Amino acid sequence: MPHDGASAKAQHPFELPRLSRYFSEFSPLPMIAVEGTTHVVRHLNAAFARLVGKERTELVGRPFAEAVPEEEANGCLALLDRVYRTGTPENLCEQERRSLTPPAYWSYAVWAILGEDERPGGLMIQVKDDTEIALFRKQATEMNEALVLSSVRQHELTETAENLNACLKASIEGRDHFIAVLSHELRNPLAPIRNGLQILKQVGNDPVASANVGSMMERQLSQLVRLVDDLLDVSRITLGKLELRKERVELATVVGNAVEASRTPIEQQGHELTVVLPPTPILLDADPIRLAQVFQNLLNNAAKYSDKGGQIRLSAELASAPDEVVVRVKDSGIGIPAAQLSNVFEIFLQVDKAWKRVQGGLGIGLSLVKGFVEMHGGRVEAHSDGPGKGSEFVVRLPLWKEEGGRRKEESETDPAHPSSFIPPPSKRRILVVDDIRDNADSLALLLRLMGHEIATAHDGLEAVEAAGTFRPDVILLDIGLPKMNGYEAARRIRAQPWGQGMVLTALTGWGQEEDRLRSAAAGFDHHLVKPVDPVELEKLLAELAPPQR
Ligand code: ADP
Repeated sequence: MPHDGASAKAQHPFELPRLSRYFSEFSPLPMIAVEGTTHVVRHLNAAFARLVGKERTELVGRPFAEAVPEEEANGCLALLDRVYRTGTPENLCEQERRSLTPPAYWSYAVWAILGEDERPGGLMIQVKDDTEIALFRKQATEMNEALVLSSVRQHELTETAENLNACLKASIEGRDHFIAVLSHELRNPLAPIRNGLQILKQVGNDPVASANVGSMMERQLSQLVRLVDDLLDVSRITLGKLELRKERVELATVVGNAVEASRTPIEQQGHELTVVLPPTPILLDADPIRLAQVFQNLLNNAAKYSDKGGQIRLSAELASAPDEVVVRVKDSGIGIPAAQLSNVFEIFLQVDKAWKRVQGGLGIGLSLVKGFVEMHGGRVEAHSDGPGKGSEFVVRLPLWKEEGGRRKEESETDPAHPSSFIPPPSKRRILVVDDIRDNADSLALLLRLMGHEIATAHDGLEAVEAAGTFRPDVILLDIGLPKMNGYEAARRIRAQPWGQGMVLTALTGWGQEEDRLRSAAAGFDHHLVKPVDPVELEKLLAELAPPQR
């Protein structure tokens, strides 16, 4: 019901019809009637006056916006104009009255009314204080949002728990797989060693057969020792405890040592190995033993993952910016699937055996390669055009840099890498202490065969006692001993006047840096890790000062 003639209405002030007035007076809801165009207040009931806290006389005859100023901000005046224009009643729900503290919420119902003269002209506004319900609704909304959020969180937590669970399961599976592979790898060399022992019993008098079996057993034992050493190295790299013994080395020497060490697997498989190095010497600041291990691992893998009669090529070239040497080990072998190329350096990773055909290995060789190369400030990458297309491993290493005073004299030997000169052995008195009798007896036998005079003991107390009576030059002392451990036994021996000149050598399965520090603190002169290499032991004995007798 749109209205026209605003100017006409202005001449006839709107009067609220009696019925409406009567109705509003008795309504418990606050009501107010205003002019349609000017919004001048014509009537209000007692409930409205109470609601706004004003007397009726203060409001009647004044524009609504002046009488209740905050209404404008609440959008109420725009609503009045709209209803007056369209004639359609409208509601405005739960408007926050920002001027009030604590906040209040009002709802409005507005409709157009006819005056006494039956002419359209006024608007009736009914106001309801909905603060309670609005606050309740607000709280309910907030609770609902919190609920939604917490259910999202719960979902996320469930997902995280599921992921953790999956990781745990994978790591348990990984551990079980690793133990299975490790046992398999340990059995590999153990089986021929056991066979060798049996053969030795039968061919004891045949020197050629004994020598052959002996060297076979030695090879298998070295493999076993290497496996354990590799495992320890990986754990040291992971814990950041591996230290490089760097010196100025020539790449050709390191490569030569690696080639020598890989000769057997390469020759056994009938592979052809080509080594191409630049004519000028390439100097590196490197630990020669660890670096040789890098190339030895890569060459061994090239031999292992190539069918018989393959081609292996190790080449090196200088590169600039940065100044480095790039060493490539390339084979014509089974190759690596593209999807696995980026993971091959991960520890315990072995490319799917279904197509690999090759058994054996723990999956730690390449992670050692990466660890050692990175410790030298270099990097390593794997390349392959796919299965059957061969593989190439590229190692980049920084070159030796001449720095003031840093360069070592070539004649200088590193104490960590003793010279290969072995003085002739002299006869020693040696006390061998090990609670495992077979260990003690076999080592005693070996040392007797080398020409030394031996006594044995099998616990810590016995060791101290035997040291006092036998007065050895050297004691090879196990650490984990019954009655008194090796550290304590060493301390007691050192405390005696006769024990001060004895050479105390720890002979133990524990070879980490902290184990060496601990044995040194207990008074040991040397620390050997079991199984001790007889050549290393002989070298150590030969290098000692002549016996004081
Ligand atoms: P291992 O040889 O003991 O399994 P490595 O860490 O040396 O462990 O190698 C990890 C895996 O990378 C191997 O199992 C093999 O699948 C793959 N790999 C390594 N070198 C080669 C190579 N030259 N050709 C093909 N695959 C290789």
